[in-house]
Amino acid sequence: MKPKNTTYAFEIPKLGRGTHRFDFLVEDDFFQRVEEPLVLGGRVQVALSVEKNARLMVMIYRFSGVLRLDCDRCLQTFDMKIDFSKRVVYSFEAYPIGLEEEDVYEISPGQVWFDASTDIYDFLSLAVPMRKVPDDCPSEKCPSEILRYLTEPEIPKSELSEIWNSDATFN
Ligand SMILES: [Zn+2]
Repeated sequence: MKPKNTTYAFEIPKLGRGTHRFDFLVEDDFFQRVEEPLVLGGRVQVALSVEKNARLMVMIYRFSGVLRLDCDRCLQTFDMKIDFSKRVVYSFEAYPIGLEEEDVYEISPGQVWFDASTDIYDFLSLAVPMRKVPDDCPSEKCPSEILRYLTEPEIPKSELSEIWNSDATFN
């Protein structure tokens, strides 16, 4: 079936055997497909190389650019640089032989359109670290009320013991 948006799609039968290259640009609107996106926006160049033969397509995605995230510590948005590659194999055969160790997905031999946007979205989402805090946080760029909270010194131990001692006098 032809995807509604063919920006990130190509027609498989039109690709001859050999290697083909596609270049995509991912911008803010790309990440707005879910209600509370993990990635708020960004600008990423995606270079996709597709090596096709009768049995399979080997896809190598190369991502470079920035993802806009919100900092888990101060809640400010920041840009995270990314530059990485991902390899995935789509097999036209149900049980591909000799590819057990790779990420292999089955694809119907009759499928015409391949929409790379799902792969691109998934790989970019997986690139987001568990803890989203840039190296320079906290800094004067953080909101002042949060900065005050983050840099407030803890109550010194001596003061704590004073509190304990004053409680003790009530016994
Ligand atoms: Zn921060």
